[in-house]
Amino acid sequence: MFTEHAHNGLIFDTADCISAVGGVRHAFTTRLGGVSPAPFDSLNFFERTGDSVENVRENYRLLGAATGLDLSRAVGCRQVHGDHIRFIRASDAGRLLYDERPADADGMLTDVPDLPLVVYSADCCTILLYDPTCRCVGALHAGWRGTAAGIALKALVAMMSAYGADPMTIRAAIGPSIGACCFKTDRDVPDAIRAELSESADRFITKAEGGKYHVDLKQINRLWLLRGGLDPRNVAVHPDCTMCRPERYWSHRRLGARRGGQLAVIALENI
Ligand SMILES: [Zn+2]
Repeated sequence: MFTEHAHNGLIFDTADCISAVGGVRHAFTTRLGGVSPAPFDSLNFFERTGDSVENVRENYRLLGAATGLDLSRAVGCRQVHGDHIRFIRASDAGRLLYDERPADADGMLTDVPDLPLVVYSADCCTILLYDPTCRCVGALHAGWRGTAAGIALKALVAMMSAYGADPMTIRAAIGPSIGACCFKTDRDVPDAIRAELSESADRFITKAEGGKYHVDLKQINRLWLLRGGLDPRNVAVHPDCTMCRPERYWSHRRLGARRGGQLAVIALENI
C-alpha cells in the first residue's frame, strides 16, 4: 500500500492509492538522508528543538530534489494539538519556517496548484487527502486530542463544502506514527475518544496493566475517514510504528524533546 523511495540516500514513502491517480506529488519522510548532525541525524525538519535553521533549510532542499516538489513555496502551520483547519491561498506560499507559519491550526486545505502543504510529527498521525476529480488537497496533524476531536472528518466536510469534493473519489493516507503497541495512555485518552465515537472505537482500545490503555490512533483516524464516506479501498494506513523503529523515524516518546521530526507533504501538480 506504500512504496519506499530512495534519492541520494534520502528515504521517503508514498501511498499507492494517491500516486495511482496522478496529478499530485506527496511524501512521508523518515529520518534518513539529511545533513543534520546528532542528535538530529539526519533528515530533520524541526528548527526549534536545537538543530540549526541552515541544516533544516538544506534538508528541505534535499527533499525537494528527491520528490520534485517546489518546497520554496511550501506552507506549514503552527500545530497546537487542536482540530482547527485553515484554507491556504497562493499568497501563503513560502510560509514554512515556524515564525512565518499560519498560527494555531492542525489542518490545511487548498485547491491552488504547486502549493505544498506540510505537517510535522514525531509519533502523532499525519494524514494526507486528495480529491483527483475536483482537484484539492489536505494535510493534517492528528495527535490524540485531534484524533479524538475528529479532525479527519472535519477536514473532509470542509473539502466538500469549500471545493465540492466528493467523498467517493477522495484518496487518504495515514502516515507512519506511534502504533497501539507503544501508545500506552491513561484513561483520559480512551474517554475522549469514546465521547465522540462511542462503542465503534472499542475495538481499537485495549486495556493494559495498571489501569493503562493501548490506543490505535491510526485506526481511529481511519474510522473517522470512513464515517466521512470514503471508500475503504481509497484509505491507506502506514504499517510502521515510529517508536518501534527509531533507526528510521523520529519518536518523541522514545527520544524525548531534543530530537528531530519528520513531515508529510502534498501538492497539486500544475497541469
Ligand atoms: Zn510500537
